[in-house]
Amino acid sequence: MRVNNKLSGSHTLVDVPMVYLKYKMPADLPCYTDWDFKVYPGTFLFLMPAMIAAFHRRIANDSKYAHMWASKSGIYKEHLDCKEVLKWLETHENSADNIVAWDNAVRDLFWSMSQPLVYGGEYHDVHCPACDAHYAADVMQKHEWSFGEDLAAEGGHRLACPNEHTVYSIMEWNS
Ligand SMILES: [Zn+2]
Repeated sequence: MRVNNKLSGSHTLVDVPMVYLKYKMPADLPCYTDWDFKVYPGTFLFLMPAMIAAFHRRIANDSKYAHMWASKSGIYKEHLDCKEVLKWLETHENSADNIVAWDNAVRDLFWSMSQPLVYGGEYHDVHCPACDAHYAADVMQKHEWSFGEDLAAEGGHRLACPNEHTVYSIMEWNS
């Protein structure tokens, strides 16, 4: 996706400014210690419409099964939380500020929900804390990883800055 408007400067190139969700990936998740690369949690500026679309897709998919889930189950609770987050995102969709920061008002579901946006390059830029620099999506690199063997293997992808710092990763499969 091309983004033509500038975040700062004297003018923008489009009439309606793009709204971004600013989100810092979680620090110190237990899974980070299982991996043989270090994670430097990046701060992403996601395109708000792309994030909203990701929640719409997830909710539409979950809705097919939600009637089979016990009302007190974790998976059902997460389904309801997804709807809350979507509502929160939509109230900020046309925000006058073009950068909206996630503020604890809703549950933090963005780490897993942002996976297709991170790997699909649907963000304006990401700040790498190790470099203390902002990088556009097109200079970031996606790598595949896996380790372990047989019944104790896991794998996924990771997103690295030009200096090889991993700013995002999530396990995608295990055996
Ligand atoms: Zn870096």
